[in-house]
Formats: sequence, structure tokens, C-alpha cells
Amino acid sequence: MTSAPAPFTADDYKVRMERAAQSAADAGLAGLLVAPGPDLVWLTGYQPTATTERLTLLVLAAGQDPILVVPTLEAPDAERAPGAPAVTLRDWTDGKDPYAVTAPLLDFDGRFGISDNAWAMHLLALQQALPGTSYASLTEALPMLRAVKDAHELERLAAAGAAADATYEEILKVRFSGRRELDVAADLADLLRQFGHSQVDFTVVGSGPNGANPHHEAGERTIENGDMVVLDFGGLKHGYGSDTSRTVHVGEPSAEEQEVHDLVREAQNAGCAAVQPGVACQEIDRVARAVIDEAGYGEYFIHRTGHGIGVTTHEPPYMIEGEEQPLVPGMCFSVEPGVYLPGRFGVRIEDIVTVTDEGGQRLNNTVRELMIVE
Ligand code: ZN
Ligand code: ZN
Ligand code: ZN
Repeated sequence: MTSAPAPFTADDYKVRMERAAQSAADAGLAGLLVAPGPDLVWLTGYQPTATTERLTLLVLAAGQDPILVVPTLEAPDAERAPGAPAVTLRDWTDGKDPYAVTAPLLDFDGRFGISDNAWAMHLLALQQALPGTSYASLTEALPMLRAVKDAHELERLAAAGAAADATYEEILKVRFSGRRELDVAADLADLLRQFGHSQVDFTVVGSGPNGANPHHEAGERTIENGDMVVLDFGGLKHGYGSDTSRTVHVGEPSAEEQEVHDLVREAQNAGCAAVQPGVACQEIDRVARAVIDEAGYGEYFIHRTGHGIGVTTHEPPYMIEGEEQPLVPGMCFSVEPGVYLPGRFGVRIEDIVTVTDEGGQRLNNTVRELMIVE
């Protein structure tokens, strides 16, 4: 197995923070307020062990040094974050007003982008402290902030994809028939960890009619001979995400099961083949959907074709009708069409694809034919 990638440096984080502050200014914002969560991890490498009611907030504005407001008791942890040398810490002790520490850092009548997962209590208190300020969702204001990955990020995403592929190859060898979905899901989680994941986000095992519900995770149902089984699993390895789906069959498939699987495979291949710099995100959805529509199964493809992936397993850009954002080399996202026949079975095939100058490159490369399991 390959060794862990070199950690990101304080300089890497500094560049990201400068770019974020500049993007905010370009979008007409006075700055960005970033609470603990994926944006803070991406910008500073800092992830408090537990997010509590105590205010932790990164304040970014173009032309200013980044400032991280932290509770005094968590300051030693924050100082150890890889991006800490690039930020100035402002700590506040219990009993003091953290908003009184934060308010002087902000324009009194500015409009700020605030991370989507900031607690409402913090936003409401800031609005009360600075009634002239206004706020926008960071993801809505700067949807593409984290979308284009650099070479070091792509290396991590490729490693996560390879680990997910290794997981799929191993799961094909386990017994499905006579075991519960939950048991196969536990196998998937064990394998992802065995192949280097530090976090497992989902392990979908949708057998028979459960496969027709794209949000079904795994349950008590015992898998039987004759079942189609949708497998969709992923998590984080070295801080970056994996997410892949394959649909397998227990024993010999019926002609219809094989046909629907072939159709989804064709749609997935078409979606991947359409990936080129400059192509709009919605075009990937249209191309994959057209294949399923033309075969008469359009009403059974009930979700968007894909989503971005990075320090989280679901993030912009979204491959969905109406998203006109052009693809840019370095973007990384899923292509995952599916067909869901209510009460019967579902099929989904998903790979992570990265945009290169030459087109799409898949980060998942296991076989896409309908595999037979026991
Ligand atoms: Zn069957
Ligand atoms: Zn998935
Ligand atoms: Zn996905």
C-alpha cells in the first residue's frame, strides 16, 4: 500500500485563505465567516474535536490577515492546526462575550458570506451586535470555492477511489444470500477502514425492493437468491472522499434485470464520456438522462446525475439540470445515474470522475458489468 501523502503546509492553507478572501471580494462581499466544518478544515486544517455552543469563527477579508476567534480553552488545539501559522488567534474566555471580540473585526455595515453549517445562535448574535451587517450562505455565494482541486488534492481523491475499488473487489467474495443487508454493510465499512479510510460516511446495501429507494441505507432484510443489490459506499481517506456504486445480482439475473443494468451502464458511460472542460454541468445530467429516457425508463431516474466530492462526500458542483457552471480541469464529481422500479429493484452505477484537459478520468475503475454474487 502506498504511504500517506505529505501533509498540507501552512503555506498551502495561506494560499487557500487568500484565494477565498479574494473570491469573496470579487463577489461583492466584505468577507467570509467560517465556522467549524468542511470549509474550516479546507481553509486551515483545523477541526475542533467537538463543536459546541462556544464560538469558533475564522474571519477572512481581502487585504487583511486571517483571524481565528477561538474559546481560550481550545486555543492550544487551534495552535496545533497545520494552518495555524497563517492565522492570528483571538481567544475569548468563558464569561466574556465572544461577539464583542468578533464585532470589531467586521465592517459594521458589510455583507458577509457565512459557512452553511454555522450555528444559527452565532449568526443571530452577530446580527444583534452589528445590526447593519447582512449575511449570505457561503455555498450560495461562492459555490465553486472548493470545487477545483489541486494536484495534491487529486492525489488524495485518487487514493480514496482506489481504496473504494479494493473494497468492491473484496465484497464480491463475501456471501450475500441468507445474510442481512446490515451484515454486508458492516463488511463494507470494515473493508473501507482496512483500505485506509479514517471515516465511513455511508454503506448502502439495497436488496430487492429496497434497492428501488435511493436513500435506503441498510436494514434487517435478509438478502435472497434472485435479488438485485445496490451497493453504494464511501467515506474519507487522508481527509478526502470516496463514493462509488455498483449493483450486483445474487445468482442468475432475469432478462429484465440484465437489460436495466445494461441501460444504466450505458447511461453512466455516456455521462463520463461527455466530461470535457467547458461543458456545462447540466450537460452531464442531460447526456446520461437521455439514454434512460430513450429506453422508456425516464420516470424511474429520480435524482440528479452527480455531485462534487472533496473534503466532504457531497458538495458543489452538482450535475443537474439548470447548473450552467462550465467544467474546469481539477473538478471532481460523481456520475451516478440509476433506475428505480418501485417495489421491485433498483440499479445505480457510480464513479468519481475528474476533469482533465483531455476529458474525464475515472477515479473508480472496477468492472461495471453486472456481477453475480453468492
Ligand atoms: Zn433477480
Ligand atoms: Zn454514492
Ligand atoms: Zn454519490
